This record gives sequence, C-alpha cells and structure tokens, in this order.
Amino acid sequence: MNIILLGPPGAGKGTQAQRLVAQRGMVQLSTGDMLRAAVAAGTPVGLKAKAVMDAGELVSDAIVSALIGEHLDASAGKGAIFDGFPRTRHQAEALEILLAERGRSLDHVIELAVDEEALVERITGRFTCASCGAGYHDVFKLPKAEGRCDVCGGQDFKRRPDDNEQTVRTRLAEYRAKTAPILPFYEEKGLVRRVDGMASVEQVADAIDSILDG
Ligand SMILES: [Zn+2]
Repeated sequence: MNIILLGPPGAGKGTQAQRLVAQRGMVQLSTGDMLRAAVAAGTPVGLKAKAVMDAGELVSDAIVSALIGEHLDASAGKGAIFDGFPRTRHQAEALEILLAERGRSLDHVIELAVDEEALVERITGRFTCASCGAGYHDVFKLPKAEGRCDVCGGQDFKRRPDDNEQTVRTRLAEYRAKTAPILPFYEEKGLVRRVDGMASVEQVADAIDSILDG
C-alpha cells in the first residue's frame, strides 16, 4: 500500500503519518524530514537545499525527486506514505516513474481538507513550553495556571517563527497554487479520497483507516 497524504501545512499530515508508521509498519517519506537530515549531514543535496530553504522558498523538483528515489527502496514490502510530496504536477509524474521502476504504484491520495480561516486560528495560536516542549494553544489549550507549564512548571514559552499569520497565509496560498493542481491529475486516476482535516485527530485517523481497509 503506497499512499500520499495531502493537505496544507498545519492540517495534521505529520501526525497521521506517524500513527500509520507505528500501527501499520508503513515507512514515512517526509520531504521535510529527508531534507533536514540531508542538511544536517551536509550532503551536496543538503547544502543546495539549505540555501533555498533559508530563503523561505520551496526546493526544486530535481532535489526532492532525488531524495525520494534514494529513500523509496527502504519502504519496499512495507508501504510508503508520502508526506509533503509531491507538491507539483511535475513531481507527481516523477513519482509515478520512481514507483513504476520498482514495480509499485499508488493506492490512494488522501486529502486532509481544511477550513482556511479555522486553520489560521489553529496555527497562529499554538505555543510550547520552552523547557519540556508541551504543546499549548491561545484558544484551545491554555495552561491550567496562567504562565506555568502543566507538565513541568516551566514559565518560559515559545512560538515557532513560522506560526505568525502572514507566514501561514503565505503557505496556504503556496499550497493552493502549487499542490492543488496535482489533484486533477490524481482525480483522473480515481485515487483521491477526502477526509475532514478539521475533525479531531482520532476522527481523522478513523476516516483514514476506513479508506485503507476499505
Ligand atoms: Zn513544560
């Protein structure tokens, strides 16, 4: 079983992918993770990618396809979850070739559909404890005692610089502009399944499970 998880940043793709890895033994091929690993290792691809990411731009199709190809063999016989890839029609075509070369194909393209305004609120409100990393939210999950972490009692909190409204809206626009065009490609193949990405993590998990087991 090889699947793509689609959805804008913050829709919960990573969370669902991790669960499928833990429960079904699938291998997550997350472009973000692979890129960070390549950057950390200082490989030629990693150095190239770092310059692009530091500029706040998306890395090129060629870089991403090379990384995916390298990691795809590790998922043989287990099933792959593509997370954050493909982002363009060109990458989608490249993925077909990468899979076909290995006698494999895609089974489902699962889209976590979101309400963009609600997603902006969800992302811009989140913050974490600087000491233990516990997650909180301005609206949905404030610490029980103001200014003190429920878990460790820490009083320092931090927000990811990416979680400001302007950045989130820019990334949503990028998602619409660059990822949405691949949906028709997969719809023609009858592979697209939609799940309500604004539902709870458990509900999203159930919906994905029924697709995989259906
Ligand atoms: Zn804490």
